Amino acid sequence: MAALRSEPVICPGCRADVAPAPVGFTWWGGMLGSKLLHHVECPACHVRFSGITGRSNAGRIAAYLSLAAGLVVLLGYLISRVR
Ligand SMILES: [Zn+2]
Repeated sequence: MAALRSEPVICPGCRADVAPAPVGFTWWGGMLGSKLLHHVECPACHVRFSGITGRSNAGRIAAYLSLAAGLVVLLGYLISRVR
């Protein structure tokens, strides 16, 4: 993500003013999920959080996961209907 912000980002883990590194790949969302949620990692304590809000992404990750699970269920249902 090229859009760097001039305002400081406070890490929710160590409360330090850090320059978070973008997370390329996550177990829960692959490449796409981390991009969608602007998932970043603190270089000091390695806590991962949202690069936009400066807060934990846990709630959004849960929403992302349930959305993905819903799509899988829907897809499975559609496939079973075809057969
Ligand atoms: Zn930190």
